[in-house]
Amino acid sequence: MTTYSKAPAELIKLTQDVMRRYHGGLNDVGVLVDVLLAFPAEDANGDAVGPAITVAGYAATACIKIISYKDRVVRGHDAEITIDGNCWDVASEAERTAILDHELTHLELITDAAGSVKRDDAERPRLRMRKHDRHFGWFDVVAHRHGEASLEVRQARAMLDSQAFKQCYLFDVNGDDEDTSSGDPENENADDPLVSVVDHGRPLRMKRSRVADHIIDSCKRQFAGSH
Ligand SMILES: [Zn+2]
Repeated sequence: MTTYSKAPAELIKLTQDVMRRYHGGLNDVGVLVDVLLAFPAEDANGDAVGPAITVAGYAATACIKIISYKDRVVRGHDAEITIDGNCWDVASEAERTAILDHELTHLELITDAAGSVKRDDAERPRLRMRKHDRHFGWFDVVAHRHGEASLEVRQARAMLDSQAFKQCYLFDVNGDDEDTSSGDPENENADDPLVSVVDHGRPLRMKRSRVADHIIDSCKRQFAGSH
C-alpha cells in the first residue's frame, strides 16, 4: 500500500516560491496548497511494488487535486499536490521546480463575467482543473504495425514537423546542412553528418539520421512522468 508523509518545510516553501513566480493569479487570491509525499509499497526485499501514484491507471511522478468545500473547511487547504517521494529525492532543483509548476498549472481560478474570482461558502477561491495542452497515448506495437497510417506515427510526424513544438518541448537543432558538414573533420559522411543538438540543456552530437528517433525517445520520457 502507498504510504504518505507530509512534505518537509523546504518543499512547502519551494511550492510557495513557484506559485509566486509563475502563478501570480493563484498567489494573489491566497490559494493554499498542501503537499504530500507518496512512497510505493515494498516487497520483503525493499523493492517497490508498483508505482506510488497513478493517474487514470498510469504511473505518475506527481498529481494535484482540488479539495472539496467540506474538506477545505476542515483542512484549510484549497488543493493538494502529491509527489512520488522517491522521484523527489533524486530530482534536481530545476526538475523539482518544473514538477511543481506543472501541477500548479492545472489550477484555474473560476471567475465571474466581470473577471472577479468566485468564492465558495467558506470564502475560499473556487478552482477548476486545467487540462493538459497536449495529451496522447501511444502503442509502440501499433506504430510498428501500421506505420504512417497509425495515429501514433501521424502525431509524432506532426510534432517533428512543427518548429514551434520542437523549440518548446525538445531541443534546438544547431545549424543546417551547410554549417554542420563544411570543414568539420568528424563529418566524413556528408549524407549523414554529425549534428549538434541540445537536449534539455545537455549538448549532444549525433548523426542526423538519429535525430528523429532521439526526439521520439525524448518525447516519450517527457510525457511519461507527470500528470
Ligand atoms: Zn498534469
